[in-house]
Amino acid sequence: MAKNPFRERGFKSYREESARKDAIYEQKKGKLFRFFLTDKDEDDVEIRFLNDEPILFYEHSVNEGGKFLNVTCTGDDCPYCEGGNKAAYKGAFLIVDTREFEMDERDAKGDKTGKKKKVKDRLKILARGTKDLAKLDRINTKYGLKARPYAVTRIGSGNTTSYEFDRMDKDPITSKQIEKFLSTLPEKYKGMDVFEVIEANLFGMEEEEKSPVKRGNKGTRRRSEEEDEIEDVDSDVIEVEDTKPKTVKKKLNIVKKKK
Ligand SMILES: [Zn+2]
Repeated sequence: MAKNPFRERGFKSYREESARKDAIYEQKKGKLFRFFLTDKDEDDVEIRFLNDEPILFYEHSVNEGGKFLNVTCTGDDCPYCEGGNKAAYKGAFLIVDTREFEMDERDAKGDKTGKKKKVKDRLKILARGTKDLAKLDRINTKYGLKARPYAVTRIGSGNTTSYEFDRMDKDPITSKQIEKFLSTLPEKYKGMDVFEVIEANLFGMEEEEKSPVKRGNKGTRRRSEEEDEIEDVDSDVIEVEDTKPKTVKKKLNIVKKKK
C-alpha cells in the first residue's frame, strides 16, 4: 500500500503519485483479462490450459479508490514494497475461457457503438498463489494440464479462496489449436508464443526486441483491437490471496521457458 498522502508535503509527492497512477494505467493498457470466478459464477467453468509450466512472479494487490488492481512487483526499488504492501508469489498460465460473454461492441476508431456483442473462447491469464499452484503441479504430473479440459470451481471466499480443477475427458490440445487461439489475440501479440504472451502481460512489452524486422508495418496496428482487451472495472476486483511470501525483498524469480 502506498504511504498515506496526508503525511506528505509539497508538489514532489503529488507528482510522484500521479506518475504512479499513470504507470498503473500504462501497465493495464492492452492487457488480457484475468480469469477469476466470483460468487455469482456458475460451478464447473470449462477452461483449457495452453501451457503446463507456470511463469512465476511476485504481485501486489493495490487498492485504487476501492478497486483492487494487480501490479507486478518490480523487485528492487518497487514502490509498493517500500510502502509496506506485501507481494504474493504467483504462477501464471494462459488459458481459454470457454464461457460466453457479452461485451461492448466498438467501431473502427475504438469507440463504443452502444451495442453488445457475444464472445466465446477468450484467452485469459490465470494467476494463482502457492496453494493452488501446488494443486496444479500435482494435477499436471498425474493427468496433464494440456492433455484435457478442466472444470474450475471456486471454493471458499475472502482469504480462504481456492480453486478446484476437475479433470475432464482426455483430449490433448494440439500445437495447431494453440496457434489458432493465439491468432485471435490483438495485433501486438502477433508472433509471440504462449510464454511470451504471458510475460508481456505480467512484465510489459519489449517491442524493440520483438519486431526488428518489420519496422515499416508498425502503422498497421489496429487500435480498436487492443482497446477491446482493456480490463473493465468489474474484472479488477480480485480476491484476497491466501499466500504470504516470506521474503518480499527477494529478486523476481522468473521461470523462463525451456528452449
Ligand atoms: Zn514490490
